Amino acid sequence: MRTAVYPGSFDPVTFGHLDIIKRASKLADRIVIAIAAHSGKKPLFTVPERIEILNATLEETELPAPCEVVVEGFDTLLIDFMKKHKAQMVIRGVRQYSDFEYEAQMAALNAKLSDRDIETVFLAANPEYQAIASRFIKQVAQLGGDVSPFVPPPVIAALQGRL
Ligand code: ADP
Repeated sequence: MRTAVYPGSFDPVTFGHLDIIKRASKLADRIVIAIAAHSGKKPLFTVPERIEILNATLEETELPAPCEVVVEGFDTLLIDFMKKHKAQMVIRGVRQYSDFEYEAQMAALNAKLSDRDIETVFLAANPEYQAIASRFIKQVAQLGGDVSPFVPPPVIAALQGRL
């Protein structure tokens, strides 16, 4: 059983994240989407809200490969969360080269911290979704712009309720 953890803020989930989840379903039997409670950013949605939005989104998402996907919040070290789930793999999306420097450092740090064998797998962002970042979505929505090309319907509903 290959279990992957896909950690992030997902505040809110975008088509960029969804594309990574779909592609990761071809690499793992089980994906645990891990919503970071302490990412150092001031979130728009609480962790339970982000879990609800992600679950609603996953319900209407078809995966290209058989894979169980679950969503959980976490406020521990990523390697401890991975141990709890017996996960061997971290999935991260890389949008541009500037993402990579930080990501490579995190991957090396996690590998050093872990007492188990773990691998970080980087998936290059799909060019169609490369420009999408949650923080831009929030800004566009706050200023009354149309975010429907970037996020799934449950996010639009949640943004309408919040802003
Ligand atoms: P973080 O707060 O860790 O940056 P995010 O919620 O922004 O978390 O993203 C989680 C993961 O998804 C990160 O690996 C990030 O690079 C990736 N990601 C975010 N947006 C996209 C996108 N548009 N295309 C591909 N990967 C993305």
